[in-house]
Amino acid sequence: MRDAARTMRALVLGRRARRSSARAGAVLVFHRVGGAGGDTDLEILPAVSGRAFAQQLRHVRRHYRVVPAAQLLDAVRSRRRGEQFPVAITFDDDLASQVRDALPALRQAGVPATFFLTGASLDGPHSFWWEDLQRAIDDEVIAADGLPHVDAGAALKRSPRAILDLAGTIVRLPREQRDEVAVALRDATGPPSPDSGLRPHDVRALADAGCTVGFHTLRHDALPGLSDTELEEALRDGREVLAAAAAARVDLIAYPHGKADARVTEAARAAGFRLGFTTARGAVTADTDPLRIPRTVADLSASELALRLARTFRAVAA
Ligand SMILES: [Zn+2]
Repeated sequence: MRDAARTMRALVLGRRARRSSARAGAVLVFHRVGGAGGDTDLEILPAVSGRAFAQQLRHVRRHYRVVPAAQLLDAVRSRRRGEQFPVAITFDDDLASQVRDALPALRQAGVPATFFLTGASLDGPHSFWWEDLQRAIDDEVIAADGLPHVDAGAALKRSPRAILDLAGTIVRLPREQRDEVAVALRDATGPPSPDSGLRPHDVRALADAGCTVGFHTLRHDALPGLSDTELEEALRDGREVLAAAAAARVDLIAYPHGKADARVTEAARAAGFRLGFTTARGAVTADTDPLRIPRTVADLSASELALRLARTFRAVAA
């Protein structure tokens, strides 16, 4: 479907869904925003272009009720027939582009957002292993057999989505093995660029702009694979430092890699988190567990995102 047809279809479906009395909402998650936009076949976290992001903000502001993530469940529960569905906008991973490019666009559109931060770059430049992996493949500074535990051959050949498969394999490795991969990648790529990540003044800028700062854990390990002790540490380490930088309570969490199971959500609840966000797709409903709120990963184009949102609500508006 072409852009115009997709947008039209989204508007028709959206209008129909809105007539229902479904108590539902949606949460969008963005990562990199700005510039010319990325490539979904060759990039682990392709950027939404600055232009597409502005269009997406215009679309959600016009057709949905944009609320802070912290208020989404209340907005879902109080929705009445014919009212706009509530939508919350979130960001993960402490990317410099979120303050440089996304924040001005959010302010211009006058919409609230929540930023789930690890705090890993508060003290200085930092990149996560998947950012190093992207650089290592793009710059061809590793060999196909240059990483322990995994094979980088298909990704180096630029096979569509091979780099995503490789990243997925690394996510599922035991933590010690994943750390070994991370060390090998860092050896190959060298240190992160000086302007990578977010410093305390960036976090403060987000908070001062009225945005919410949530937690994304310092080490960004997939939580279901951790031991009980490691899980407890992951939910604690770095949280207070982040709260100090934001000068606000941090009681929302987005689980790293979007992954949570019953043990993880229970631990998050025990650690005092009010709301927890995954990346399981679909609508938020009145029955959604507050510690397991699904989020929709934002598409790269405005029309794709419009149609995805409309379909999300059609699915619950029957
Ligand atoms: Zn993340």
